[in-house]
Amino acid sequence: MVASQVAAGEVVERPASVIKELMENSLDAGAKSLEIEVRGAGSVLLRVSDDGSGMDREDALLSLERHATSKITSAADLATVRSMGFRGEALPSIASVSEFVLRTRQASASAGTEAVVKGGKIVAVREAGCAPGTTVEVRSLFFNVPARRKFLRSAATEAAHLDRAVETVALAFPGVALHYRRDGRAVHRLPASASLASRVADLYGAEERAALLEMPEVAGKGIRVSGLVSRPGATRADRGRQFFFVNGRAVENVFLSTGLREAYRQMLEPGRHPSLFVHIAMDPQAVDCNVHPAKREVRFRHGAEVRDALRSAVEAALRQARADWLQPVRAHLTARVPPPTDHVPPARPLRVAHQPELPRPVMPESPPDPGTAAPRVLSEEFRLVGALSRRYLLLEGGEGLVLLDQRAAHQRILFERLQRGVAGGGVAVQRLLAPAVFELPAREHEAVAGNLAVLAAAGFGVEVFGGRALKVEALPDFLAGRDPQRVMEEFAAACVSGGAPRLRGQAAEEAVRRAVARLALDEGGAKDEREQCALVTQLLACRLPYCDPDGRPVMLQFSWRELDRKFGRD
Ligand code: ADP
Ligand code: MG
Repeated sequence: MVASQVAAGEVVERPASVIKELMENSLDAGAKSLEIEVRGAGSVLLRVSDDGSGMDREDALLSLERHATSKITSAADLATVRSMGFRGEALPSIASVSEFVLRTRQASASAGTEAVVKGGKIVAVREAGCAPGTTVEVRSLFFNVPARRKFLRSAATEAAHLDRAVETVALAFPGVALHYRRDGRAVHRLPASASLASRVADLYGAEERAALLEMPEVAGKGIRVSGLVSRPGATRADRGRQFFFVNGRAVENVFLSTGLREAYRQMLEPGRHPSLFVHIAMDPQAVDCNVHPAKREVRFRHGAEVRDALRSAVEAALRQARADWLQPVRAHLTARVPPPTDHVPPARPLRVAHQPELPRPVMPESPPDPGTAAPRVLSEEFRLVGALSRRYLLLEGGEGLVLLDQRAAHQRILFERLQRGVAGGGVAVQRLLAPAVFELPAREHEAVAGNLAVLAAAGFGVEVFGGRALKVEALPDFLAGRDPQRVMEEFAAACVSGGAPRLRGQAAEEAVRRAVARLALDEGGAKDEREQCALVTQLLACRLPYCDPDGRPVMLQFSWRELDRKFGRD
């Protein structure tokens, strides 16, 4: 029993690890349907019922003894075993730290068996009437290990881990029906699905599904990769929707995260993460799952090959999406205007100074600003048709009709320019005819004063002018003509609401994102044709023209084929 409790420390970290072990046992037993019930974030009740093979009385009792796994018949099996668990210690470990009931029946048997265990001691074994399959009920987890119980996090945290554990199994086995109830509320009722894509839709909604690209199946070198990945722009602020499965088992490995990152390299804002649901099938001998009994970390014999296989699958999906519509449009447009330069001057050290020098003007990047805009016909096969309600622009491209949201486009343009500035890249500066001096409320003033160096790098010639006053002598050129006070107020407000005193990394990105949302074009949109052309040109010079900084689409395309179909012409 002591040994079990020690083992419990390894296997049973928290309620979510119990649920994970129980669900995996059910799947190992061939279950096609799971019922999961949780109360009190798992410390009151955890229950998993399945319609799997069930056990006879003898096996049921055996399963409560340590190392009583039925899954290994010879030592050689250890290397090739494909099932989830193969240590034979989950059930005894869980039973040693809870009030535990196992009810199980084989389909062919007339009656089932019920075993009641408390803190590792079997207190009753009896015949029981129950449906074929197995139910394991775990109550009062850690009731006899107060130190562990105390170690549990808040109910919300434990519940989030439970949800994640259930989602993981749901995604690993789309073909298994799964009902999940938490505190009497149905969280998921998932029918058995024919595909991962429909399981994702059932789990997270049709919208999430629509924001994903199907990866073409990539196979080679004994590795087969399939799954779904975010469309460019449809990314998230966290990694909560990244799931890697190897041979049906959820895993973590640095080669996998690297493969994903490398594929997405040019398409992600800092701090954004794509969703990914990927299944990798490979020789089980080339995966070592035994790094830690309860953890997901695995080792690959050929990590670089796995990384490359994943990267090519994701790249293929992204290439496909791009080719689908943006690429031709962009190619036609940029044929006539100077190509966008990705050249960014080297970052300057961000010295924190109270009287920063005014940033020295550098050459503005190509695409021209309003005033020097390209003509209406942007190229032979791409032209501006006009504005719709001043909100949208209508473009005709080689592939069809493109609708462009002016405000979203402007947000994207401002975002990339400001972000580049804040990150230390040079920006062109426009001096004001007369400096603007004004006061800000204390917190806002502090926010600006604390970020003078970053602001200077981003093209803001601003200094503290005693008390709560600021003096602004220059603005980045793309904000020229704006009211300097309004611009500084928006920035200060963005810094304050971001909660971070210094604009760095994630905080800087967040502040830029917020400020841009406030500074972008109002509903009015570009004034005239020249401004409209300039907007399109600048947009297509952006690194990520598809989406605004919040991931909303900037352009929608309606292909000729789609239009013809809608008009019944084909
Ligand atoms: P392991 O899964 O590593 O074998 P466990 O302690 O998780 O060890 O389970 C012990 C044994 O109990 C399993 O090998 C299996 O034979 C049996 N068992 C556990 N859960 C179930 C279930 N839901 N249905 C059928 N058999 C089960
Ligand atoms: Mg197990």
